[in-house]
Amino acid sequence: MKKDTIVLYPSPGMGHLISMVELGKLILTHHPSFSIIIFITNAPYNTGSTAAYINRVSQTTPSILFHHLPTISLPLDSTIESPHLETLVFKLLHLNNPNVHQALKTISQSSTVKSFIIDFFCYSSLDFAHNLKIPTYYFFTASAACLAFHLYFPTIHKNTTKNFKNLQTHLGFPGLPSILASDMPKPMLDRTDEAYDEFLYFSASIPRSQGIIVNSFELLEPRPIKAISDGLCVPNASTPPVYYIGPLIDSTDGRKNGPGSNESVCLDWLDSQPSRTVVFLSFGSLGLFNAAQLKEIAVGLEKSGHRFLWVVRSPSEPKDKTRRFLAPPEPDLDALLPKGFLARTKVRGLVVKSWAPQVKVLSHKSVGGFVTHCGWNSALEAVCGGVPMVAWPLYAEQRMNKAVLVEDMKLALPMDESEDGFVTASEVEKRVKELMDDSDDGIGSLRKRIMVMSEGAKAAMSEGGSSRRALAELAESWKLGNQII
Ligand code: UDP
Repeated sequence: MKKDTIVLYPSPGMGHLISMVELGKLILTHHPSFSIIIFITNAPYNTGSTAAYINRVSQTTPSILFHHLPTISLPLDSTIESPHLETLVFKLLHLNNPNVHQALKTISQSSTVKSFIIDFFCYSSLDFAHNLKIPTYYFFTASAACLAFHLYFPTIHKNTTKNFKNLQTHLGFPGLPSILASDMPKPMLDRTDEAYDEFLYFSASIPRSQGIIVNSFELLEPRPIKAISDGLCVPNASTPPVYYIGPLIDSTDGRKNGPGSNESVCLDWLDSQPSRTVVFLSFGSLGLFNAAQLKEIAVGLEKSGHRFLWVVRSPSEPKDKTRRFLAPPEPDLDALLPKGFLARTKVRGLVVKSWAPQVKVLSHKSVGGFVTHCGWNSALEAVCGGVPMVAWPLYAEQRMNKAVLVEDMKLALPMDESEDGFVTASEVEKRVKELMDDSDDGIGSLRKRIMVMSEGAKAAMSEGGSSRRALAELAESWKLGNQII
């Protein structure tokens, strides 16, 4: 008899790959009758860290099978007019379609593909998967609020002919706080940019999927979840079933471990700090600051007087978009930070180069606050660790996440920036002091709320919890076999 198989198709960024692998593990843990195959896109940006990560997963969870697709070449940088990295990713994944199509056909000969689960960047595979009669689901690695935003985006697009970057108005999306038009993801601000069309096609394709799986949980996002289930986000069509199965978090650091590694340096240092006294600053896998901004953060941190653990990445960003996937060079801390900063703050601060074991840091008892770029994984990790945030968005949908985290969820303080995005040392100092002030007049209520959410996250993922029930419902629909008409 053919084995029931779920095929997962992540987009290449590490954050997307890790979340998809966690989804595979979750399915296998609770519904072991399915086998899991994960497609790996083979392109030159799949650097050592991707390979090392896949190796580690293969060793720890051998029941997950990785299917390496044939190598594709990156489009030449000069052929892409759009300045956004997202355009490159969309293009790359369009080029991947023949490989994906062939792989699905081959796998279907020996197994029953019960479901094909795709990342949003892979939207162009939806149609041929439908033609193969394979039920295709989106796995949304962002928030339910962001899902509501995308579902409603085609409606907003129809309602105006203007470029959003020129609109100084707030836009109303069902289930979201009002969003300043220019705070939408950058590639969606300019109608003449290729990336805009890609996002529009993706948004319009969501209702054609068999279902949407979201890395979030009901207690955390009641407003957007209600707006979606009330059908407010897709006014003229029906919304497919949505499954909130999170929070999915990878608690194993695959980068470097062992003595002398960033992992042991950070955790050993945190072990020697008093409870809840350290502010952690980390800006995702792609967050970069220029040298002037790095110096300003250092001055603000020093003036705040608080203990800190800060991940500093090299400011250089290659001009050629196709090279932006590669890991940046190690930063030269002595050259980048103010003279004497490292020596003066040695007793109360630790600066690590490029990468820290974030999940473990955020669940460490010494960490009391998190200055974050508002990536959704980072926000979920802070929620699980019960660590309040200062929201300092940098790219992707992070400005919207900031609005949601600050205004709706009330789990973060805003970092105020000037028009060009620069944040002064005095703003850093002020926000860090506010974040670490545990008194009742301080952020006590915010801390209490995030502890409630942290407990809620555990409950959602436990037996009988909302996320476990959603997963069971999803698995049941696969077993019954959703029909593609
Ligand atoms: N991360 C980490 N160490 C770092 C920086 C990032 O472990 O120094 C991890 C972080 O825990 C999260 C992921 O990288 O799981 C970043 O995902 P997120 O969605 O927050 O942001 P993105 O990098 O996709 O913008």
